[in-house]
Amino acid sequence: MDIHEYQAKELLSGFGIAVPRGGLAYSPEQATYRAREIGGSKWVVKAQVHSGARGKAGGIRVCDDDREILEAADDMLGRKLVTQQTGPRGKMIYRLYVEEAVDIEHEFYLGFVLDRKTERVMVVASSAGGMEIEEISEREPDSILRVSVEPAVGMQEFQAREIAFGLGLDSKQIGQATQVLMGCYRAFRELDATMVEINPLVTTADGSLVALDTKMSFDDNALFRSAHISELRDKSQEDPRETYAADRGLNYVGLDGEIGCIINGAGLAMATMDMIQLGGGEPANFLDVGGGASPDRIVKAFRSVLADQNVSVLLVNIFAGINRCDWVAEGVVKAFEEVDVNVPVVVRLAGTNVDEGFQILRESGLAIGIAETLAEAAELSVDAWRNVSAQAA
Ligand code: GDP
Ligand code: MN
Repeated sequence: MDIHEYQAKELLSGFGIAVPRGGLAYSPEQATYRAREIGGSKWVVKAQVHSGARGKAGGIRVCDDDREILEAADDMLGRKLVTQQTGPRGKMIYRLYVEEAVDIEHEFYLGFVLDRKTERVMVVASSAGGMEIEEISEREPDSILRVSVEPAVGMQEFQAREIAFGLGLDSKQIGQATQVLMGCYRAFRELDATMVEINPLVTTADGSLVALDTKMSFDDNALFRSAHISELRDKSQEDPRETYAADRGLNYVGLDGEIGCIINGAGLAMATMDMIQLGGGEPANFLDVGGGASPDRIVKAFRSVLADQNVSVLLVNIFAGINRCDWVAEGVVKAFEEVDVNVPVVVRLAGTNVDEGFQILRESGLAIGIAETLAEAAELSVDAWRNVSAQAA
């Protein structure tokens, strides 16, 4: 689970990390009111969406007076922010965070991630923080410091100091940086995080270290342990297609194409998506209906996939081992009765009870494209998608 920047700042400040003074705003008037509460003469209005790279997308605005704050807030609220990380659908801006502007001397990058290969927490740091960190890590991978933490003893102060020195901080700031690093590590472990990121961590003119932007993600499987973390969930930032499917127990991941997929088995689902792409199409989703796909489950899958307005063709691809093709076919027929199926449908069945399955589909009299192999299924659905696109054009 991801949370907002302001929520991560509140959590991290509880672990001794300095953050700018700020306040939340749901309206332009509230944004100016927050600025007055904070004081000073320069503020930053920040879109609160579950994404980084907001700065480059117009989601971070430095303002000098009320008029500029009103304008920035008015521009952002209720609008979708499309960043390099959100995909073309973007994320809705419903909340703003107003902060005192900080006089930046230098921007550093600090990240704590779970390295699944070594099964350890890995600290990643760079003295070239800010908005270009992705490019720098690609261009000069050696400029990035990496330290892995031995889980039995946890992060040691000497490791934190080593990173602080590695960043080129001066002697007065080493102590502060060590506090920040130790605080992040404690937050990571105590809150069951999977990621803690400060980018940028800045040094200011008066020599202090401040976390200007923070990001945290949490282990979904540990959420039951801490209500104060799970209550930070903001469903408005999640893909509504995924929330809908997850609430119905389906394993669904939203994608940007137009060919909707209902498939059993993650491996077959991946292979089918590859075949669709090979044929020149784009899948609209990944959906694994799972082993015992009852007719009702197939109907739910139809509802989930067709709730996506971008879907213009639906492909059902089942290789029945534990599954039964006749059940799946019954589910398809039932879906046509109960759901408004307004796109061409292609069904491929193979395995247990395949003859019964095809018989049910044929006897239904429904206009369904029938395929016997994976290649055929992908070809038929890409062809159908081309036809629909040509008609729409
Ligand atoms: P992101 O683009 O989503 O990562 O948003 P950030 O909060 O990291 O802001 C992007 C950039 O805006 C930072 O790297 C800074 O260069 C700049 N910025 C953010 N807050 C301030 C501030 O208080 N003062 C100044 N001068 N620049 C800021
Ligand atoms: Mn940032």
